[in-house]
Amino acid sequence: MSNNVYDLIVVGGGPAGLAAAISAKQNGLEKVLILERDNRAGGILLQCIHNGFGLHYFGEELTGPEYAMRFVKQAQELNVEIKTSTMVLSLEKGSPNHKVCAINSSDGLMILETKTVALAMGCRERTRGALVIPGTRPAGIFTAGSAQRFVNIDGFLPGKKVVILGSGDIGLIMARRLTLEGAEVKLVCEIMNYSAGLARNMTQCLYNFNIPLKLSTTIIQIHGKERVTGVTVAKVDGRRKPIPGTEEYIECDTVLLSVGLIPENEISIQAGIQMDSITSGPSVNQLMETSVPGIFACGNSVHVHDLVDYVTEESLLAGKCAADYVKSNSREAPSEKLSVTPGNRVRYTVPQHLDFPLSKENEVMLMFRATDVYKNVTVTVYSGSELIMQTKKRIVRPGEMQTLNLKENQINKINQVKQPITVSIELPEDAID
Ligand SMILES: Cc1cc2nc3c(=O)[nH]c(=O)nc-3n(C[C@H](O)[C@H](O)[C@H](O)COP(=O)(O)OP(=O)(O)OC[C@H]3O[C@@H](n4cnc5c(N)ncnc54)[C@H](O)[C@@H]3O)c2cc1C
Repeated sequence: MSNNVYDLIVVGGGPAGLAAAISAKQNGLEKVLILERDNRAGGILLQCIHNGFGLHYFGEELTGPEYAMRFVKQAQELNVEIKTSTMVLSLEKGSPNHKVCAINSSDGLMILETKTVALAMGCRERTRGALVIPGTRPAGIFTAGSAQRFVNIDGFLPGKKVVILGSGDIGLIMARRLTLEGAEVKLVCEIMNYSAGLARNMTQCLYNFNIPLKLSTTIIQIHGKERVTGVTVAKVDGRRKPIPGTEEYIECDTVLLSVGLIPENEISIQAGIQMDSITSGPSVNQLMETSVPGIFACGNSVHVHDLVDYVTEESLLAGKCAADYVKSNSREAPSEKLSVTPGNRVRYTVPQHLDFPLSKENEVMLMFRATDVYKNVTVTVYSGSELIMQTKKRIVRPGEMQTLNLKENQINKINQVKQPITVSIELPEDAID
């Protein structure tokens, strides 16, 4: 019976799941299984045929499928078992083993036992329903990711005259793709007074193609009966309310929404894992372990990443820590937890807590996002009132994830001080009024 127990089951075969499985294997685990609902491993990257992936991790520029395939190949070489077209339905936490319920057309319904689990389900896009845009309900309204799939995988152009709501990276990349495919992108409008996407995507996808961007602007009405015929956009005030008199009608046949991603966590919630209401992902410690011992989480199902390279780094850590967990025959419960709290101008942090005492073997990676665009700032990490580290940044933007790596001397200091951690963004003195 014990032969049927997996060391690690990974839910989701995107870049996060692949990296977690590879790292678990490299760190000595035998039986590692990836369950992926799509018919191929690789995750959302398979539809991202543009380049720009891997600059941090490989030091070279790859397309999404090229980046994903490097990890699929490595997983195969390491004999990671991958079951595609397999949907994980639920997870039951247990001791010592957890149970994963999954289904596919060849094995039917399976209840699989495993010592550890890595949750790597990625995220899904926010839709029109979540935004409550007034107007009719014609054909021609898509999320930017659905349009990306139509164009890049299925070979269909979703429309000819396009307005994009939201300046998230997928929207920016689709503005360029649709232009290259012969469509006219009439406008990208963004409700905030800054773009939600990466600075490099703003330049490469909008400015280089002369695609207009209007900040502090939103769609207040969608027009059309059978098919979209146009939208009305308007400027918004500081509270994001449309300003009367600023309305403008734009004729178009397609509206794309690039208005944010939501981590996929139905399985995590149903398994009773503690969630973070800001990230919408599981609350994790410095080992990427959730509130349930032996259940780890990584990638976009924990928090939305801007670059897949960071997904890979975080997921390699999750896989290694899952292997450490199995090898130590389930780790001892930590003596204490230190919370990691977002301080001034920080929206969230991952991890949300540190298991104390911190091991000097693993670097501690603190990831966070700013609440707004700030220039020439100092990022500080305090344990209680003790300064652990500070670093200067020329600019921080909400769209760009920030990472700090705590080194051995900083970890030692936290172990001595033993106080909750706060990550803050401090403005230069002349910026404070
Ligand atoms: C439409 C879209 C476009 C993007 N474009 C870019 C880009 O251009 N550049 C960039 O750096 N990042 C991009 N991203 C961000 C990208 O998601 C991440 O960089 C990276 O792919 C996240 O990896 P992941 O493994 O966490 O998630 P994913 O790549 O989303 O992989 C998650 C996998 O889990 C599977 N899964 C989910 N639930 C289950 C279940 N219950 N059972 C079995 N399998 C399951 C899914 O099928 C999927 O294959 C994009 C994201 C989206 C949604």
